[in-house]
Amino acid sequence: MLIEDYEIELSTPACDLESPVYMAKVSLASDIGEVLPYVNATVEKGEFVPGIPVLVWKDGGRKYALRPGEMAISSITDKEEAGALVATLVDRINAIWENRSSLEPSYASWEKPKVLDLLKLLPGTNCRECGVPTCMAYAAKLAAGKMRLEDCPRLGDEDCAEQLSCLQDMGL
Ligand code: SF4
Repeated sequence: MLIEDYEIELSTPACDLESPVYMAKVSLASDIGEVLPYVNATVEKGEFVPGIPVLVWKDGGRKYALRPGEMAISSITDKEEAGALVATLVDRINAIWENRSSLEPSYASWEKPKVLDLLKLLPGTNCRECGVPTCMAYAAKLAAGKMRLEDCPRLGDEDCAEQLSCLQDMGL
């Protein structure tokens, strides 16, 4: 087993000390650097920097980060939830490590789309139906992962099908 022993510490995000959710930081007794490319091959939109190495991805509204000696999970409500999520992640990483001979490691990194590139593909009507004042504001939130394509009803229009397809191809 790659990960046998670990310690969980809960903290509030440094950018928001009054946050109602926690960040779970997990100190590992073992070095998991070698498994990162294999985990990267199994996650969607993984941001991977092999030189450090560090792998970050989002799943279910949470951000996950792996480094050689530590892991982190965001948006945790309490100690119990932290324990369950960390145990699930540890099991997943151990299973990936055991099966690594059947996996193709990935050193690719997903690149966040740029706000202006997204803006070019939006309807540009500033109709506010998405709940923000302009298409530019929506593009910024889309790029930051704070809004989804479904939040712009105009992208569902027939004449926006091509733009929608391009946005989907960008992994949004
Ligand atoms: S709903 Fe779509 S078209 Fe309207 S402002 Fe928002 S992003 Fe622009």
